[in-house]
Amino acid sequence: MTDLHAFIAGLPKAELHVHHVGSASPRIVAELAARHPDSRVPTDPAALVDYFTFRDFAHFIEVYLSVVDLVRDAEDVRLLTFEIARDMGRQNIRYAELTVTPFSSIRRGIPDLAFVEAIEDARKAAEREFGVVLRWCFDIPGEAGLESAEETARVALDLQPEGLVSFGLGGPEVGVPRPQFKPYFDRAVAAGLHSVPHAGETTGPQTIWDALTHLHAERIGHGTSSPQDPRLLEHLAEHRIALEVCPTSNIATRAVKTLEEHPIREMVEAGVLVTVNSDDPPMFGTDLNTEYAIAARLLGLDERGVADLARNAVEASFLDAPAKARLTAEIDGYTTSWPRRRP
Ligand SMILES: [Zn+2]
Repeated sequence: MTDLHAFIAGLPKAELHVHHVGSASPRIVAELAARHPDSRVPTDPAALVDYFTFRDFAHFIEVYLSVVDLVRDAEDVRLLTFEIARDMGRQNIRYAELTVTPFSSIRRGIPDLAFVEAIEDARKAAEREFGVVLRWCFDIPGEAGLESAEETARVALDLQPEGLVSFGLGGPEVGVPRPQFKPYFDRAVAAGLHSVPHAGETTGPQTIWDALTHLHAERIGHGTSSPQDPRLLEHLAEHRIALEVCPTSNIATRAVKTLEEHPIREMVEAGVLVTVNSDDPPMFGTDLNTEYAIAARLLGLDERGVADLARNAVEASFLDAPAKARLTAEIDGYTTSWPRRRP
């Protein structure tokens, strides 16, 4: 491990763009599969490593759906959430806004209240046991249409779980125009939730403008195509609208051809608040520390520059001001003492 990798591993971090089921590591999948012996997912961790080696994107979707199929009852939801936080704690992630998709679970027969109680129970336990603070982004699976938007808004606003901070929109962008979701975002924002739709990952900058204009976006999930429109970059920089950049995911989904062609440098040079995130880490064979190392390489950053990325995530988070100050102070303290701390 290089000095920079060791620095990143110990650095206190915030993660702003990471999905619930997409965070199920082989260890967690093995535990879930053991609870459901009728599934075709292997329970042996060694066999699972093979299972998680994707041949192509279609194979990835197939494996992803087989993991979705393992989350069948409230106990699965609780176990998945709690174990994700354990994996986060091991990477020194102190705070995460986890994107959850209640619609998928409710559709599979888990009652809405049981789902919410399961994630809330896991959230409190994770903070106690691992010192990882979790918050929720309730996400509309765009491919499931307006019915899923209605259901997601209903669960968010009727049940108002304590850990819920934001409202999101994921799934494919092509053929799923953002403006149609405006009424649901209007309701969520009026109820005090923040708006964080995915936009401009697989489509051009107009989708990002749509997310800003129609969905009140305060951060943008991915925003990979934003450098195609200098006026948009200017707008994002001026209004401190952060981009949630997930380099490895962008390669895996072919939103970007190679890491070397990743537009992160153009975003940073335009003065945009850039945060680094992992999206569906075990599915893409990565974790947040690896994404920080990749960003450091692409941006030519040393320890000081990497610590700035961690501060960006805190600034762009939906923590309250005192909590932001505490986490930033933790990052500062770690960075200042770094050469002495080095193992
Ligand atoms: Zn995502």
